[in-house]
Amino acid sequence: EIRLSHRVGAVRPSPTLAVTARAAQLRRQGRDIVSLGAGEPDFDTPDAIKSAAIEAIHRGFTKYTPVGGTPELKAAIIAKFARDNGLHYEPEQILVSVGGKQSFFNLCQALLDPGDEVIVPAPYWVSYPDMVLLAEGKPVILATNAREHFKIGPAQLAAAITPRTRLLVINSPSNPSGVAYSAAELAALGAVLREHPGILIASDDMYEKILFGDGKFVNLANVCPDLAERCIVLNGVSKAYAMTGWRIGYCGGPRELIAAMHTVQSQSTSNPTSIAQVAAQAAIDSGDEYIRPMLRVFERRHDYVFHRLRELPGVEVLPSDGTFYSFPGFHQVIARKGLKDDLELAEALLEAGVALVPGSAFGSPGHLRLSFATSDENLRLALDRIAAFVSA
Ligand code: PLP
Repeated sequence: EIRLSHRVGAVRPSPTLAVTARAAQLRRQGRDIVSLGAGEPDFDTPDAIKSAAIEAIHRGFTKYTPVGGTPELKAAIIAKFARDNGLHYEPEQILVSVGGKQSFFNLCQALLDPGDEVIVPAPYWVSYPDMVLLAEGKPVILATNAREHFKIGPAQLAAAITPRTRLLVINSPSNPSGVAYSAAELAALGAVLREHPGILIASDDMYEKILFGDGKFVNLANVCPDLAERCIVLNGVSKAYAMTGWRIGYCGGPRELIAAMHTVQSQSTSNPTSIAQVAAQAAIDSGDEYIRPMLRVFERRHDYVFHRLRELPGVEVLPSDGTFYSFPGFHQVIARKGLKDDLELAEALLEAGVALVPGSAFGSPGHLRLSFATSDENLRLALDRIAAFVSA
């Protein structure tokens, strides 16, 4: 028997895997399953971005690059932060990593000592608590609900702060809830953080570009410029440019922290793939040109899904501010059907031909995450099946 580390023992395998595995099993048996489980755009990476990478291969740009990203990509990122976010960084304040996931992993490894606390509002992106645990930190989960639009408020934040608090994580627009914090809401959180100078703020802006209506994107660093030097702003090309497989994420933040994260990366992966960096540079330099048409489609699908869900008896749904997710509550449906929880509900819906991710995976039981990064036809079919199940 192999004795594994206590560190890896503290991390749970994703609860979403059970549903995914079951969906695959049912499909192998020839069952027709519509999946609304995807966490990635269903669009292809734009051709001009692909061409940049192909050209990079042909010109032999296939060797190690500087660990933290090429100077050219860093310059594109610095220009993006200035253009879109009004944030000004030097190259030493930027780190390019293997997806947004590695950015947050590096952050936890560089920042946390055993027992250090990280405040994570729920519902959360599944990886935050586990990456904190892998760094031997302690995730402090703050529950929210639909009535509060799945957002934490200043009193809740203040009550969660202890002398061990090192970091607050804000993900807006949010995977999975789809909601975004307003400038006023961020300012209220900022007022609490101002009283606690030892706490850093991770602003995960991964869905910045997938924001509906005429809402302008803001993060805590924009709204509270005096706190900007305590913010680490995480972003990437995965969701905005339909580039999940290229694995490029990036962040901007305080020099010492970025230097420490750079050290972690230098002893783990080294640089992200050279040719993917060239593709990411082409993507970031293109601004919003390729994003606009995808955004229109996501918004149209959102409106369809929202209206369909709103008609269902016992289903509680909020309009999403952005992302390609909706996070309806099924508490009444679960009770009415005599099911134990959202995991059982997801199982039952799978039998009815729809794969969704249970809210428990995101720390919010009673909900399901529905991704509309799929075709209109699939959405119609899935909503018909959910409606038939709920009404039966
Ligand atoms: N942050 C959030 C909120 C996400 O939803 C994701 C991906 O699902 C990531 C970060 C990581 O993205 P990447 O695929 O670039 O690692």
